[in-house]
Amino acid sequence: MSEQVTSPTEAYPPGAAFIDGRFAEIADAKISVLDWGFLRSDATYDVVHVWKGRFFRLDSHLDRFMASAEKLRMNLPYGRAQIAEILAQLVERTGFEDAYVEMIVTRGVSPTFSRDPRDAINRFIAFAIPFGWILKPEEREKGLAIAVSEIPRIQPESVDPTVKNYHWLDLVMGMFDAYEQGARTCLLSDGQGNVTEGPGFNIFVVKDGKVSTPQRGVLHGITRQASMLLLEELQVPISERPVSLAELHDADEVFATSTAGGVMPVTSIGAHTVATGKPGAITNRLIEAYWAAHTRGDGWSVPVADVSRGQLDLA
Ligand code: PLP
Repeated sequence: MSEQVTSPTEAYPPGAAFIDGRFAEIADAKISVLDWGFLRSDATYDVVHVWKGRFFRLDSHLDRFMASAEKLRMNLPYGRAQIAEILAQLVERTGFEDAYVEMIVTRGVSPTFSRDPRDAINRFIAFAIPFGWILKPEEREKGLAIAVSEIPRIQPESVDPTVKNYHWLDLVMGMFDAYEQGARTCLLSDGQGNVTEGPGFNIFVVKDGKVSTPQRGVLHGITRQASMLLLEELQVPISERPVSLAELHDADEVFATSTAGGVMPVTSIGAHTVATGKPGAITNRLIEAYWAAHTRGDGWSVPVADVSRGQLDLA
């Protein structure tokens, strides 16, 4: 566990992986081209992060991952506590203080190559790589430039967005739309005039001191959940409800939330500047509370070492 695993080639970030029941180098963690996770995006995943040696909201990520696998009728080859230990051991192998830790279950391959998903043997994969940011801390003051794409998000009746998934073609093509509008990333609507989410983040608007975030048609992000809890503590009113594109453009503050970067001010939407073009007061208070929560116990954060030694009650 103390041995450092790093990537042998520059094509891969340094890191460590766990695949087909073993720990492996990131560069060696490969799946069959016949895996339905690859052929059909038939997979679910979750990403938890480690900050200064502590997992953030690990229980919430594990809850979501276990629930997602169940909703997709997949059988995980490991229980919740075992998965937590695998994740912790991966982080320890890398020696990273700050890490991005992904767990995946794919439908796998049917041993008879039948077309029946019930025949497939589900595959569990996990890896730890360096922490990555959608918006780096030094870019926070400038904020995120987003653009609303013409492409609507896949409807939730077709693909359940609360099951974290790789059905990203709407988001990826939306990013190309956003680049053409000079923005950094995109936001998709529900096709009926309401905001949904962007590639890897949820969205919040602030108007007259009240915060709102869409509830329907989005992944219930763990950073979104953490932000709602922290806003309650800060006694800022928060509601989950449909948020129209008109409200987005009329907002006093807009921010995005993601495991990959936390709470991120959005300062422009296409050609429109949000309020003064600077991060707003509520966004700034939330950013502070979010990073302060990384040293809190009580389900907020836990040392990686406590998880790898099985000292947690993760039953
Ligand atoms: N929405 C989508 C589509 C995502 O993929 C993600 C994370 O990758 C999020 C929202 C944010 O979720 P979380 O806060 O759990 O990272």
